Amino acid sequence: MNDFDWTGQPHRRFNPLTREWILVSPHRTRRPWQGQVEAAAATEILKYDPACYMCPGNKRSTGDVNPSYQNIFVFDNDYPALLPGRESAKINHHDLLVAETESGICRVICFSPRHDLTLSGMDEQDIRTVIDCWAGQFRELGARPEIQYVQIFENRGAMMGASNPHPHCQIWSTTSLPNIPKAEQDSQTAYRKEKNSCLLCDYYTVESSAQLRIVVQNEHFLGVVPYWAVWPFETMIVSKRHLGAIDELDSNERDALGNILKRLTTRYDNLFQTSFPYSMGFHQRPTDGHEHPEWHFHAHFFPPLLRSATVRKFMVGFELLGMPQRDFSAETSAESLRSVPDIPRKPLA
Ligand SMILES: [Zn+2]
Ligand SMILES: [Zn+2]
Ligand SMILES: [Zn+2]
Repeated sequence: MNDFDWTGQPHRRFNPLTREWILVSPHRTRRPWQGQVEAAAATEILKYDPACYMCPGNKRSTGDVNPSYQNIFVFDNDYPALLPGRESAKINHHDLLVAETESGICRVICFSPRHDLTLSGMDEQDIRTVIDCWAGQFRELGARPEIQYVQIFENRGAMMGASNPHPHCQIWSTTSLPNIPKAEQDSQTAYRKEKNSCLLCDYYTVESSAQLRIVVQNEHFLGVVPYWAVWPFETMIVSKRHLGAIDELDSNERDALGNILKRLTTRYDNLFQTSFPYSMGFHQRPTDGHEHPEWHFHAHFFPPLLRSATVRKFMVGFELLGMPQRDFSAETSAESLRSVPDIPRKPLA
């Protein structure tokens, strides 16, 4: 039906990476808001916090003392979700009670000795140092024979459960391929087989010509609100060149990634004039020793905020039981993010 009003009528959109659907209900955006109004998070953040376990020179709970580092600092997580080198075992009762051992290595990377910075507040040169570290960690952890997958991610802000504002990310590397990269791998493999082409190379071409959902771009990367976005201001960063992992980025591409990360997070901060919370992370080829020509390196940003610095989206009700749903469309979100500057506007509240 060609005259269907896609901008005003309910419809569902398909995520070709996970092969799941999301419900879009743009007609609901004018309903009155009577829900939760959250208080803004505390504002004053120190450059150095003597109680922070990530600041230079401070003692951690293990008794280890952090070095007086100048740019980045990597350490094994003191409370890791995974432990290295466990013996392997399986159980299976009637295909109903099924379990396997899982092991791995969890690390923390401090982006800066400064307790009060975020990616948006860092110089591009310093973000480049972080990118080089990500590439080095991906290569080092991925080279271990037992490690099949390296997940780099950042939880930013108290709303996302980050207990410490010190700018940092985590790396969880695992002996199995986690659910979501597994789903994306299967989709990219099937797409390649069927069309003899790359899913995200083709998606990049489609978004470039549509322009509607682009938020930031430069010579080597595109930042878009994906057509199938679930979170109100969800974005994806896609490399323009087909490559499988962060360690394949050349020097110019690493600089360009730093530029995109800074400009995207600055737009986020400017949208609601707050230090914007999110979970972000990279999806890239597994480190299982096989060639993975189907994999196209990309990043996802999943921010929780909906309509202000304090009002967030919840995944409840129909979304837990049926499928994810959003009110305003991906195109509207992209327009909002494009309408604010990608350079810092004023000191954040
Ligand atoms: Zn700190
Ligand atoms: Zn590609
Ligand atoms: Zn992905």
